[in-house]
Amino acid sequence: MEIAANIGLPGEEADALKAGAEGIGLLRTEFLFQGRDVAPDEEEQYRAYRLILQALGTRPVIARTLDIGGDKPAAFLALPREDNPFLGFRAIRIGLARPDLLKTQLRALLRAGEGGNLKIMFPMVATVEEMRAARELTLRAHAELVASGVRCAATVEIGAMIEIPSAALIADRLSAHADFFSIGSNDLTQYTLAADRGNPAVAGLFDALHPAVLRLVDMVIRASHEAGKWTGMCGELAGELDAIPILLGLGLDEFSMGAAAIPQAKALIRKLWVEETKLLAEEALRQPGAGEVRLLVKEWMHVHL
Ligand code: PEP
Ligand code: MG
Repeated sequence: MEIAANIGLPGEEADALKAGAEGIGLLRTEFLFQGRDVAPDEEEQYRAYRLILQALGTRPVIARTLDIGGDKPAAFLALPREDNPFLGFRAIRIGLARPDLLKTQLRALLRAGEGGNLKIMFPMVATVEEMRAARELTLRAHAELVASGVRCAATVEIGAMIEIPSAALIADRLSAHADFFSIGSNDLTQYTLAADRGNPAVAGLFDALHPAVLRLVDMVIRASHEAGKWTGMCGELAGELDAIPILLGLGLDEFSMGAAAIPQAKALIRKLWVEETKLLAEEALRQPGAGEVRLLVKEWMHVHL
């Protein structure tokens, strides 16, 4: 089991390492794309990714391809206004519709991954077809780099972010096209409970410890393990102290969180027995709501810590 950090700006990898991160579980790449009129070219992206990969040495770096649209606008694309941007043209949907953009990013990442431990994952996957196409594009970008003698990562693991309930529900089918899964619990909660993650009026409903979300998490982890793959989590839930014993009990393989949360999370995990957390997780899945799950964990920690 691994504790990794989420980063979204160059330089944050140093804080992550200082905090005890064993890798980067989510490199948000939007910093290169937001607030500008022109997309960054391959060279600019390569230089930014390379610094981060070099800082991490042989530790894993999971880079997420561009996740724009919805709550992450990008002026350079000049996208038309949408009535439902969270259900609209965003993330992997843009990447696959604009393979020029996505392939440039993939080439930059693959080049930056030379000698390192690069993994690439795709945001907001909803269908097997999307994952198959994204994987093909990545392998093609890699083959082209190799064929033209450009130095790049020798191999790359390709993952699917699980942020949409459809992806969780077909995780057993998606697993044939992904080397790993990373659960984006922020969006997975938003879409499962139909509660906008940024809207304070529905903040009471937005709780990633809702058993509906936990049951999806359970399905994803099981599907990955049955296929001999692994599952991480890079949403806020992975760093929440009340969630960690449950996630451990569900068999989560990698926890990725903001650097500030790492020391406390590690201290808690050291105190836990996996066999005991399995029973807690089973009980959590049987609860009727998030409130009951939170109460259950509080009582459990009181007894077990
Ligand atoms: C998530 O949705 O949980 C996630 C990690 O991605 P982001 O918060 O960047 O949407
Ligand atoms: Mg997300």
